[in-house]
Amino acid sequence: MFDKILETIKKYDTIVVARHIGVDPDALCSQLALRDVIQFNFPEKKVSAIGTGSHKFAHIGKLDKLEKNYSHALLIVTDTPDKRRVDSVDFSQFEEVIKIDHHPFVESFGRLEYIDDKASSACEIIMRFLVHTGLQLNSSIAELLYMGLVSDSNRFLFDSSTPELFALVSYFLKNYPFDLSSCYQKLYLRPLNEVRLEGYIALNMTVTENGLGYVSITNDIINEFGVDSASAGNMINNFNFIKEVLVWVTMTEDVKNEQIRVSIRSRGPVINQVAEKHHGGGHKFASGARVKTMEEAMKIIEDLDKVLETYQKEGIVNGN
Ligand code: AMP
Repeated sequence: MFDKILETIKKYDTIVVARHIGVDPDALCSQLALRDVIQFNFPEKKVSAIGTGSHKFAHIGKLDKLEKNYSHALLIVTDTPDKRRVDSVDFSQFEEVIKIDHHPFVESFGRLEYIDDKASSACEIIMRFLVHTGLQLNSSIAELLYMGLVSDSNRFLFDSSTPELFALVSYFLKNYPFDLSSCYQKLYLRPLNEVRLEGYIALNMTVTENGLGYVSITNDIINEFGVDSASAGNMINNFNFIKEVLVWVTMTEDVKNEQIRVSIRSRGPVINQVAEKHHGGGHKFASGARVKTMEEAMKIIEDLDKVLETYQKEGIVNGN
């Protein structure tokens, strides 16, 4: 498949790289790295990375302007399982589409699709692609890939952190060295206000008997702490490894988009079916949905608590 992807890239003079809405570091880094690596190897091609930017990730790299018309162009979509969540793309303008993704399969929308839902990140798959094809790269491209990978694996915390992944990372660090501490600063430096909001979340999280932790972060709270809705929603990742909590949820009001972002994480039960039932989706242990009201969000909470109840009962039956 990687050979076929490279052959297709070679065929087009204009290539656009896109990813999902609600940008995160893996989505952004995979698209920027792919853009840069194609440009690096084929300087005569016109390669761009498009999508809605985010102030929070502006220092990671620059996106390109969306053009009105593309002709005889190739579209590559990274880190996105379904068409409806691809950011800023009119599919009808592209002659061919390639998908590179690590989410569970939702639908097919490309002639070539490389999907591995066991991969830690879309960036890991791009790394494998580069090793396989022998395309040239430099340290800044390697740094982008490392950033996306570290972010989506939450610093190698998950089962996706296999010996193969560490070997791949080791290969990149050895051959394309970059400053690790500055890389971590780009990913993890945050204002004191956000840390204070984290304190609020910890203090106000409701925890059910079954081990479900949930908290609503209203627009008033967002304003009180002086943070933005996207940063508040991303805090979900900081609440792993709480003894009493197996599944945790933040319900963040997003006034600008008139929606509630429901973000779900688990270190036990599979949660993406519940997210899918409420028109969301995602990975087995990291999912989300976007709903219109807090009442709808609370329905997700109820469903998750039932999943946990069954999970806990099964655990007791099995003697765990
Ligand atoms: P979140 O932490 O809320 O950004 O969501 C975690 C993951 O869930 C995302 O990376 C997506 O894979 C998935 N996800 C979130 N919202 C949706 C949605 N509305 N539809 C499908 N998948 C979603």
